[in-house]
Amino acid sequence: MRKSVAVLGSTGSIGTQTLDVIERIGTDHIDVLHLVANRSSPLLAEQAKRFPQATASATLTHGPSVLVDAVMDPRVDTVVVAVSGAAALEATIAACKRGLRVCIATKEVLVAAGALVMQLAKDHGATLLPIDSEHSALFQAMQGYGPETIDRMHLTASGGPFRTWSAEQIQNATISDALNHPTWKMGGKITIDSASMMNKGLEIIEACWLYGIPESRVDVVVHPQSIVHSLVEFKDGSLLAQMGYPDMRLPIQIALLHPIKLDTGIPRLHPTQMGTLTFDAPDTGKFPALELARQAMRNGGTVPAVMNAANEAVVAGFLENKCSFAQMHDIVADAMDAVQRLDPMNLTDILDVDTQARAYVTSCLEKHIGAS
Ligand code: MG
Repeated sequence: MRKSVAVLGSTGSIGTQTLDVIERIGTDHIDVLHLVANRSSPLLAEQAKRFPQATASATLTHGPSVLVDAVMDPRVDTVVVAVSGAAALEATIAACKRGLRVCIATKEVLVAAGALVMQLAKDHGATLLPIDSEHSALFQAMQGYGPETIDRMHLTASGGPFRTWSAEQIQNATISDALNHPTWKMGGKITIDSASMMNKGLEIIEACWLYGIPESRVDVVVHPQSIVHSLVEFKDGSLLAQMGYPDMRLPIQIALLHPIKLDTGIPRLHPTQMGTLTFDAPDTGKFPALELARQAMRNGGTVPAVMNAANEAVVAGFLENKCSFAQMHDIVADAMDAVQRLDPMNLTDILDVDTQARAYVTSCLEKHIGAS
């Protein structure tokens, strides 16, 4: 069946790759009806030319409501969520309430509001599909098996640019050190999260919500070759992995088209080309963000939302030279203690703790600058 898509965040890294995938798939399978970007730009104008049937809009020009407006277009049946911040959450909730296919690249939505989003998706018959290479791998490996057959999930991590660095070196890492990711070319926020391994922490929480599994049964393994994208361990001991060259076009196409499979144009990986694949336990002493995320998930309620918002704010602060690499973790941990935990929660509560967490981080960053 032909799909009609709204691409939220069309000019970002995932958005541009989504449009490349859609262009290749062709209009027999997919129509793009909405292109929404943060701001008007030559790239957005060029995208509008490539997809002449689509309405192109920018949140800075037309207001943040254009995201939800695109989702509410009755012709739209598939939404790609690749925008950051609270706007992504509101658009995702609207898409869930409409019972759409929701392709989620913004993992922060599930971290902040997993319980709410999953419940709405269930109540309204929405289908959530991850555009995250690890979660797409898990999704692919578990096809045909029910949740009761699964024992553990193993999320692979490249280890980021600081995998072989000492704890002391990491403490003093600069912005350009942290932006130098060995495998994936991505946006600034996720690249910093990969360097601290907070990205993997967020992905633990993402897996818990998507697949209804407790954090104690989600492992992280460091696999610097980035060929195995994650593994599912079943009750009978079978371990199924999904493999290939790292390329986001595959998870994007799976989210859009599953169960249809078409050529992606991605280079094929022959088993003889894999070389040596290694898997190691992460060093949680050097990368404390992993344990912080597990703690947030165990504490539950609004704690993951606070961690997520504090992390976004502190990463922005680090990129503006307002704190050191190591201080990011301490500030996020402090924010998790400082903001009151609510449970159960609704969208208003989540947005409220999000604002509080960001304000807390801002005041910390000001203090740090004052002290230095
Ligand atoms: Mg990932």
